[in-house]
Amino acid sequence: MNFFPTPYPDEILYSTLARYCMRSGNIKEIHNFEDLFGTRNCIATMELPTQLDALIENMPANSKYTAEYFIYKHTLFPFLAAFIPEERANKIIKTMRNGEGAVSYMSLGLVTSSVTLNRYFRFCPECFKEDIERFGEPYWHRSHQITGVFVCAKHKIPLYNSTELIRGGNRQRFISATHANCIVEKEISFPSDLMEKMLWMAEDAEILLNNHFEFKEPDWFKNQFRVKLIEKGYARMNNYIHQKKLKEDFIEFYGYEYLKLVQSSLPDKSGGWLSDMVRKNDRTTYAIRYLLLTRFLEIPVVELFNTKLGFNDENESNIDAYQELWDQRLIELSQSGLSIREIADILKSSTKTIRKAIDRLGIEPFWKFNGGGKYIYKKYTDTEEFKIKREEYRKKWLELHAQYPDRSSNQIRRNNDGLYSWLKKYDSEWLEQNYRRIKTTVNTVDWSKRDVELLPLVKEVVKEMKESKPERITWTTIGSKLGISGWLSKRKEKLPLTKAYIESELESLEEYHIRKIKWAIEELESQGKEITLWNLAETAGVKPRYMKVISKEIRNTLREKGYDFIFNNK
Ligand SMILES: [Zn+2]
Repeated sequence: MNFFPTPYPDEILYSTLARYCMRSGNIKEIHNFEDLFGTRNCIATMELPTQLDALIENMPANSKYTAEYFIYKHTLFPFLAAFIPEERANKIIKTMRNGEGAVSYMSLGLVTSSVTLNRYFRFCPECFKEDIERFGEPYWHRSHQITGVFVCAKHKIPLYNSTELIRGGNRQRFISATHANCIVEKEISFPSDLMEKMLWMAEDAEILLNNHFEFKEPDWFKNQFRVKLIEKGYARMNNYIHQKKLKEDFIEFYGYEYLKLVQSSLPDKSGGWLSDMVRKNDRTTYAIRYLLLTRFLEIPVVELFNTKLGFNDENESNIDAYQELWDQRLIELSQSGLSIREIADILKSSTKTIRKAIDRLGIEPFWKFNGGGKYIYKKYTDTEEFKIKREEYRKKWLELHAQYPDRSSNQIRRNNDGLYSWLKKYDSEWLEQNYRRIKTTVNTVDWSKRDVELLPLVKEVVKEMKESKPERITWTTIGSKLGISGWLSKRKEKLPLTKAYIESELESLEEYHIRKIKWAIEELESQGKEITLWNLAETAGVKPRYMKVISKEIRNTLREKGYDFIFNNK
């Protein structure tokens, strides 16, 4: 070459080469290839041209262009390769410099089989006019040739197809933009909601084209997206992602029509490319799709590449709190006899996540000591642990039903899935008998059934109250111990069995004080303290004026225990 045309701003290299061919004076097209690349064995490619080293070599002596300059400033490489790992990007650069033929977009993960690249060179009628005014000739703009970009970011108007095929003929010619092939036959106009999204894409794609971003591994983008997904409530710290909600909101945000236009529709049944992108896999896909998600998550493109996203303080503490709850739940579940798979289902995590967390928390779950030989000759259901657990869980189940008299077992299950799963697995017959099914939600309480269910629970509570530090037995204290003080005494007429029992156990204030004194005597004895009236009143928590009322009973009690003289002395 004895000259080389200066590339215009945003001109695609193909176009510069086409302008060379127009001016070279070569009669046979093939001689242009010999001038440019020193070989006839070459094809004209728009997106990612090859043999750039040869091109540089054939340049006029004083030209300062480099292959890298062309690759970054005048090809679609910075857009197409923005999201691929460095190693693959370097391979592409190598091919663009020395390789022959075309770069395989699909095998390099630049474009997927579900994306069809533009057929025709595109142009913006306004840029076309301006370029003629400014440079005396039109040219093909790089930013207009991106599949998935429909508008000119500068003029905010639709791009038009020229009549020039990108992959047509023998591809042994470079063809310039001209008045003849850039014709607006019919004006295009997009509805404003589509236009808005198209402009976003045009602007974001330009950012990729005009910045020399560092290449990142797939994990980098996964992390960036994950931080935002968590922040926006689409994911949790344990890697669980609400795929369904994400997909719904994503479609809602862009609309079916636009997603179809950018060849990024999401299938009805699965999460499609979107769930692949946020999941743990290293597949890369078309840059347009990354930009769609980036915009949806409100990450500025520059930040996506240059700022490692993390959690700010507030989020961090939320996340900590969440993590703590989650850990707590895992500890509970791991002691319940459920398998890892079952726990993973309940916590909506993978078994891998659960195993990791178990190691992290140093949990000694049931299956571990089972595996360690503790139950090696025994079935879990034959162990003492099992029986205790069953009692505990049955009781808990009944308590919950007493606590929420208007809720069905199905509703109660929702917040107690571990309890339910355990009973379902190990005690299904009992569970079936104690499963509350409510057909309509109002006025269907089976009070006689509830009465029967409640009675053993009340008995248990009263027994406990009598055995521990005295507390007066009343409807209110029993109700609050069962978490049902809201309705227990109000509905006592509907609970004849429970009512009869509670009334037989109710204490007058005096009876209660006597019980407290008796308890205090035992307490002082066990502590080896002297039994004096003062010590008794203090330990029992009975005021002296009440002591007087029951002095006869106190004296009798003490006499029975042989403390007569002490009492008389005081
Ligand atoms: Zn324009």
